[in-house]
Amino acid sequence: MKVPRPNAYRDSWAGDLRADQVGEEVRVAGWVHRRRDHGGLIFIDLRDRTGILQLVFRPEEAPEAHAAAERLRGEHVLSAKGELVRREEGTVNPNLPTGEVELNVRELDLLADSETPPFEISEDDPVGEELRLRYRYLDLRKERMREAIVLRHEVTRAMRRHLGDEGFLEIETPTLTRSTPEGARDFLVPSRLQPGSWYALPQSPQLFKQLLMVGGFERYFQIARCFRDEAFRADRQPEFTQLDVELSFVDEEDVIALVDPLLREVLALGGIEVDLPIDRLAYDESMLRYGTDRPDRRVGHEIVELTGAFRGSEFKVFAGVIESGGVVRGLKASGEFPRSRFDSLTEQAQSLGAGGLVWGVVEEGRALRSPVAKFLAEDEIAKALDALDAHEGDVVLIVADKPEVAAKVLGTLRLEVAGPAPEGVHDVLWVVDFPMFEWDEDAGRFDALHHPFTAPTGDLDGDPGTWRSRAYDVVLDGWELGGGSIRINTPEVQQKVFGALGIAPDEAEERFGFLLEALRYGAPPHGGIAFGLDRIVTLLAGRDSIRDVIAFPKTASGSDPLTGAPAPVDPAQLRELGLRSQSGGSA
Ligand code: ASP
Repeated sequence: MKVPRPNAYRDSWAGDLRADQVGEEVRVAGWVHRRRDHGGLIFIDLRDRTGILQLVFRPEEAPEAHAAAERLRGEHVLSAKGELVRREEGTVNPNLPTGEVELNVRELDLLADSETPPFEISEDDPVGEELRLRYRYLDLRKERMREAIVLRHEVTRAMRRHLGDEGFLEIETPTLTRSTPEGARDFLVPSRLQPGSWYALPQSPQLFKQLLMVGGFERYFQIARCFRDEAFRADRQPEFTQLDVELSFVDEEDVIALVDPLLREVLALGGIEVDLPIDRLAYDESMLRYGTDRPDRRVGHEIVELTGAFRGSEFKVFAGVIESGGVVRGLKASGEFPRSRFDSLTEQAQSLGAGGLVWGVVEEGRALRSPVAKFLAEDEIAKALDALDAHEGDVVLIVADKPEVAAKVLGTLRLEVAGPAPEGVHDVLWVVDFPMFEWDEDAGRFDALHHPFTAPTGDLDGDPGTWRSRAYDVVLDGWELGGGSIRINTPEVQQKVFGALGIAPDEAEERFGFLLEALRYGAPPHGGIAFGLDRIVTLLAGRDSIRDVIAFPKTASGSDPLTGAPAPVDPAQLRELGLRSQSGGSA
């Protein structure tokens, strides 16, 4: 780091001092990381943001400083001045960048005491996450946390630099806005000045970035905070950060051509090398081969279409499914498969909506040992095993169901039976050519696969179930890093999409009138993308949890043990808002 401006506390960073500065008088400041006493000498590992420096207090050379150092305990804050000296031979610490030197302290200023911390900062002993979050400011002092937060900064810096160089403007959009649900539930904020009216926190800046394109800004980005009030899942945060991008007069190729080198630069920060152009895979093929639109292609075990092999089968289950428009698909596995494992895979398949799971073990002469083998003709088995490229000792798992169900089940089982991905290998790809809608069986209507502002293609006067969309997602190792689309830029098409979603014109006007109106005033063709910053940094940092790359995250249940949020508020605050709490607590 750039040398600090010398002041009463420091003139050097502790972690940056090296042997070439031996003999210099320096002043450093920071926290007591660790303390050791050795035959009258006191050793302090001093920590600041740059790292650790060993301080030595010698009673005979600096009796006053030594006496003061007697009082130092873990996490006390100090400033120390002395001569940087070379460590004696045999005491050099090769694990520390400053390991060849130490500071012979002459002057010590104790700046703040610390109570005994509830966990060790200096050791990575396993501490419950609740406790870490309760004392997050202490947790943040750990090297692991500091590294993650620094990496996060490097990532956003690279994004800003890259996009800035490409002519993108960083523009803020409102946090208090109107509720325009994008699939998830909104967080609502009551308006005091207009009782009965509510702001919503944005689920994404989607509509505002489109309005910025109508406003003529051509190229926009924002590192935007988004809010979605969803059922908390282990690795979801109610507020999260997106790199949000939008540009005008572009098609899919322009967005991809912009993002490819940006992603290469960003992923390189985590040591992930990306060859350009980033590979592409059509949605349908992804669903067929991997059972998901977020494929991790590193682990093999691709799903294989077996419908042809079993067409006209005597086996009623397969024949019935195929006749009613369903599919038979399977995958090959290997390894230990005791009966209990088949049972648990079957249960898993059923819990995902499949009627059942057909399993089999390939035996000598490519005979299939399976509870259903007796119903299958020899040539059906042969065709299926050929398609699966299955040989003696292999296991096959087969699902006969609606295509969506077969995909979901086999996509999950595939990851279940596949081993871990090979170390150091990564898979990044674009998934393209999505359907515009998926049918929601329970609600009896279409849902947008991306969002209703995505431009559809196909016969817009025909069945919306056949429409495709101009959307694209980018996936790394089975995680969706980002997604976006070319947008609708005419009110007529926008109305059509709302119509297909079952949003009547008056309701569309009521909820999205401002967008429809803007589209009537010359909206350029435009499109964009948004990336999940928290997820990207988590993957780059090689962490398991996105909470490890957020300075002040919420727990899986959406609370913050540090501040106690969410918390009841003063009844007077509620009264001012014209609200009353029904759940007890206050008011
Ligand atoms: N607004 C979308 C989202 O948040 C991304 C986009 O289409 O740009 O997922």
